[in-house]
Amino acid sequence: SKRSGKNKFTFFDKELSENIMRRDKIEKGLREALDNDGLHLVYQPKIDINNNKIAGFEALLRWHSEELGFVSPMEFIEVAEERGLICKIGKWVIERVTRQNKEWKKQGFEYGTISVNVSPKQIQNEDFIQEIEKIMNDCEVCPTLLEVEITENSLMKEFDYNVKVLKQLREKKINISLDDFGTGYSSLSYLKELPINILKIDKSFIDDIENDNNKKSIVDGIIQLAHKINLEVVAEGVESEEQLIILKELNCDIIQGYFFSKPISSEEVESKYFSGI
Ligand code: C2E
Ligand code: CA
Ligand code: CA
Ligand code: CA
Repeated sequence: SKRSGKNKFTFFDKELSENIMRRDKIEKGLREALDNDGLHLVYQPKIDINNNKIAGFEALLRWHSEELGFVSPMEFIEVAEERGLICKIGKWVIERVTRQNKEWKKQGFEYGTISVNVSPKQIQNEDFIQEIEKIMNDCEVCPTLLEVEITENSLMKEFDYNVKVLKQLREKKINISLDDFGTGYSSLSYLKELPINILKIDKSFIDDIENDNNKKSIVDGIIQLAHKINLEVVAEGVESEEQLIILKELNCDIIQGYFFSKPISSEEVESKYFSGI
């Protein structure tokens, strides 16, 4: 009836405006956090499956808003992208990680890289390469210590331009991994054209791999193919020893996930892994 139609409209209208209000609050909070040191990073270890040593870390953003409490990066990154804040946030992340690399290497800690997640908007920002170059030069940190994670899906839009930018990063010896591999519109045939050196298999392929032979076969195929074109393979979201054993059997290079460690603060990294050096 007319009446219920109207109710429906007001219902969606309310939901929509609440959603916009929350996004407004997130945007405002993020701007404040950027100015007042309100963002921070946690680091999730990646383990070399063959010797159980730390291969590196993934830096993940955390934000605790005074008004909204803990807000997941999934939610606030999307708002940051929509409201034009992602480049500033992304630059802060790269600066922070570069300083962390400098600090940890000065202390003699042994590991390969720290990776950062990069949004497509960052790559498409014309200052991106110059900014990274400046950060590296100012900090005098070896670029091989940095790894950039970019999802398959975000590469696909503006594919040619993105590939051009990533090539420039590789030329500067920065590592590049293709994140969440397998979830996107991936065509295996274009993999060898990409200027990447690492492939990160998405958690959805690791979940239940111990009971699902189809998944196991797919992951087996991905790893073999990746190795043929000289990519290192990381499995994300490894939560159990059973999964770890299978990944070892399939020749995966590096694992990351709650089985080994959740993301932790830099202080915890130091006391857990680097003490006693
Ligand atoms: P992602 O890049 O796929 O990161 C992996 C996510 O899985 C992280 O969630 C991590 O905490 C979680 N995780 C790791 N191991 C396990 C596991 O064994 N089990 C389960 N259930 N989860 C695991 P987080 O930190 O909430 O980040 C979510 C997403 O937010 C990231 O997904 C990434 O897309 C985005 N993000 C985080 N930090 C940044 C950033 O600095 N910049 C950008 N552009 N995006 C970021
Ligand atoms: Ca990632
Ligand atoms: Ca991922
Ligand atoms: Ca994922």
